[in-house]
Amino acid sequence: MIASVLMGVRRWSWTVLSLGLLTCIAAQAASAADCPGHPDALGTSRTLVVDPREHPRIGTMQYPETLPLADHEVVLTFDDGPLPKYSNQILAILAAQCVKATFFTIGRQANANPEGVRKLVAAGHTVGTHSQNHPLTFQKIPIEKARQEIDDGIASTLAALGDPSKLAPFFRIPGLLRANGVEEYLASQGIQVWSADFPADDWRHVPPARVYDLAIKRLEAKGKGILLLHDIQPRTVAALPRILQELKVRGYRIVQVVAATPERMATPTVPQQWLLHPPSETIAISRWPKIPNFVFADAATLAAPVLSDLDWRDAELLDHARHTRGVPLPRQAPWPQPELAQTSAAPALPIPAASVFKIPETTRVTLLETNSQVNRPEQAVPIEPETQAHIVSAKSRGASAHQLTRLRHAAHQNPHAGRAGRGVSKHAEQVKKHGRSVRLASLRKR
Ligand SMILES: [Zn+2]
Repeated sequence: MIASVLMGVRRWSWTVLSLGLLTCIAAQAASAADCPGHPDALGTSRTLVVDPREHPRIGTMQYPETLPLADHEVVLTFDDGPLPKYSNQILAILAAQCVKATFFTIGRQANANPEGVRKLVAAGHTVGTHSQNHPLTFQKIPIEKARQEIDDGIASTLAALGDPSKLAPFFRIPGLLRANGVEEYLASQGIQVWSADFPADDWRHVPPARVYDLAIKRLEAKGKGILLLHDIQPRTVAALPRILQELKVRGYRIVQVVAATPERMATPTVPQQWLLHPPSETIAISRWPKIPNFVFADAATLAAPVLSDLDWRDAELLDHARHTRGVPLPRQAPWPQPELAQTSAAPALPIPAASVFKIPETTRVTLLETNSQVNRPEQAVPIEPETQAHIVSAKSRGASAHQLTRLRHAAHQNPHAGRAGRGVSKHAEQVKKHGRSVRLASLRKR
């Protein structure tokens, strides 16, 4: 029995090793030859063909499965466009590195800027959709409304493309606000739901350097995966060149993902490759990103939290609490709020706090300096007044110095935590504004 299991593991290891070697060979061949005029480009190492019907939901931020990537393979994704002002710059940056990504377009943006959608496909990128109006209510609206949002978003993007074969059956739920009915509907349509493996917080009011830091740190923590970015954000435009440059320096390889068709077979994989870390591996847990890590949190290495009377928002504690059954969870988590009952076999995690996807109204483009440090310390961010009040109240309740330090640290890590649950519609408002400004611009042209 044990022998046969071991044989199975060995056979699987060899399969993975062989696939990995093939991937490496393909990677070298592709990056050297595929970017004429840019000999130092990062390049796109390979194309991964996936079958949405076999793997309907991906992205370890919310699901047990993610793309079957080898170590140091990265998939770039950009949401909420196209918005010419920034999307065109993102396209130029990607083109200079011969990097192919996946874009999740908003129907209304596609209506306002159909040429922008065609540009994505013309540049060889994969295009999926992200609803018609980007409502941050997918977790609670009636399924008929959600279906309408999904269908209209697809129709608008298709209208821009004019050819169904150019649209991938990939969908990212706005705000990652998943619901069973939504996932079931998408699966019934043969559409793959894309969560992500890590974000870089580029929708938050943070400087580009922070976006860069988070992208690299979170990627390094997992070693591979799907990075969630937004092509409508100036800070993303500012951070992206340095991110790509650093990926190259650190030996990461870009993978483009496309959907299987009758003519295009899915890339052969084994089921274990669709799990971020096979159970036989021991992977150190990083405190970033603030998302659950289902299988490999080693609770023994984390400090024992005291959650009874403090509203902790610290990622380490979240991880610990989830893996130490019986320890109460914080009342409000800044990111997907895990339930103690969730395990690696669970189909999905609960939704993230809507405030997570709040986008600041105004931002200034600050180009990253090329010599910016990779592992510089966290930037000092002012603590929200109510979070400060919370710390004071914890102090008065006799919290230990250690607890207070942790609380302050958590507040710095997540300065907006105190506002969780508010400002839900700002992202949608901004999208509306973009749509309106684009429409106004096109009206003026007429
Ligand atoms: Zn979005």
